[in-house]
Amino acid sequence: MKTKTLPAHEDSNGWWEILPDAAPPRVLREDKRVRIAVVGGGVCGLAATRRLASLRPDEEILLIEADRIGYGVSGRSAGFMLNLHSHGVPKDLDVLRRTMRFWSDGLSALRTLVREHQIQCDWSDWGRLYGAAGPDSDRNMDMLADTLDSLDQTFELRSRDQMIHDLGTDFYHRGLFAGGNALVNPAALMRGLAQTLPANVVLFEKSPVLSLEKRSGLFHLETAQGSVTADKVVLTTGAHLQHFGIGRGRYVPIATYASLSAPLSEEQASIFRIGEEAAIFSTSENGATIRLTRDRRLFFRNRFTFNPSGNASGRSVAVAGAMHRGGIRRRWPMLADLEIPYVWGGVMAFTANNGTVFGEIEPDLFAVLTHDIGPTTRGTSMGGLIADLIEGCDSPLLGEALSIPNARRLPPRPILDLGVAWELNRIRRQGAGEF
Ligand SMILES: Cc1cc2nc3c(=O)[nH]c(=O)nc-3n(C[C@H](O)[C@H](O)[C@H](O)COP(=O)(O)OP(=O)(O)OC[C@H]3O[C@@H](n4cnc5c(N)ncnc54)[C@H](O)[C@@H]3O)c2cc1C
Repeated sequence: MKTKTLPAHEDSNGWWEILPDAAPPRVLREDKRVRIAVVGGGVCGLAATRRLASLRPDEEILLIEADRIGYGVSGRSAGFMLNLHSHGVPKDLDVLRRTMRFWSDGLSALRTLVREHQIQCDWSDWGRLYGAAGPDSDRNMDMLADTLDSLDQTFELRSRDQMIHDLGTDFYHRGLFAGGNALVNPAALMRGLAQTLPANVVLFEKSPVLSLEKRSGLFHLETAQGSVTADKVVLTTGAHLQHFGIGRGRYVPIATYASLSAPLSEEQASIFRIGEEAAIFSTSENGATIRLTRDRRLFFRNRFTFNPSGNASGRSVAVAGAMHRGGIRRRWPMLADLEIPYVWGGVMAFTANNGTVFGEIEPDLFAVLTHDIGPTTRGTSMGGLIADLIEGCDSPLLGEALSIPNARRLPPRPILDLGVAWELNRIRRQGAGEF
């Protein structure tokens, strides 16, 4: 099968741009023969590769990434390493309880790796502050508090006056602070995870896989300048999984967009009296996610669009940039002229039934798709578990992962387009006050 669409970025990932220059990539320019090749170096692929390599220390494990590790979607996130549902009207409690095991497993794996390898990614345990604004936000905030209560999670409520004092804006009329999650520069985390992979991993970057075929019981992968023959292949290509013929019509590629400002001047930064940093969620799905980073930059994320190709176009990134500016201006009119050099988009996979793509899709071909709520920590856990599945390491958590229903088949296009447009409009209306 030829992969018709490859990851393409017509923008600049700010988290990556503010890091020191990366060492040049090692591009696949040879014909490799291995037992296992992993395709896709996001959170899922890195976790799968690391676990495979540690289970088989004497074997070469191959990881092939289309771009640079840290430049793709996992390095373009808002950097919340979540222990729980992020925002929006909470999901079914049973689904949340079940997912919590993966969040907690992934978060603790990441925390351990960052500590052990001293990965410089601005890891912080600051937590998250939900801010309520607009007509539906009181109801959403009450539901959020009820859900946290039901899950035995502690939280603190914040009054309007406290929110004004801490954030220097009267945009939010109520707040809720919860802990347990971490915050990072996601590009730095991904880079650090790649740099500290076990020595038996061979990593190729800037080497998009153009075709994947099975002949005489072996997989053949072609890149522009090289090839790989493997007994087993693990696909961890995120929203691009469908281009390998897997999960097609079972998930919706949805882009969201982010901006990162230049460091605030001392005067601009003095608006915030919340401490060293801050991480703000809205109560609605459509609301903005905002971070004040430790180096005093403002990160702003909002807007969702349907992107069937799995890539966000330069045009939609530009539209999002203008929206982010508006969102900042509505909250902090005094920051209207803030310099915002970086705007970018990234495409995630959403499923309809809290289902998943995880496991052996056909003999010796494995895939993992992380999606929807808290994907980074969930994906880290599921990536490790796919390695356990391949190597026959059973565990209750693997059993749990295998028991999650398959992502339900979605209606075909153009019916799907109409359904997605309806859903995006619904959340747009519902969260308009927090955009
Ligand atoms: C703006 C934004 C904010 C977000 N905020 C958060 C957040 O705060 N917390 C959170 O948990 N999640 C967040 N997410 C979602 C999260 O980043 C993703 O869902 C998650 O990182 C997906 O991980 P993955 O490993 O499945 O896929 P990806 O990170 O997309 O990795 C797949 C990799 O496969 C590679 N690939 C694809 N095709 C090929 C090919 N043919 N050959 C070789 N390689 C290929 C891609 O280049 C890519 O690097 C956010 C996403 C965005 C866009």
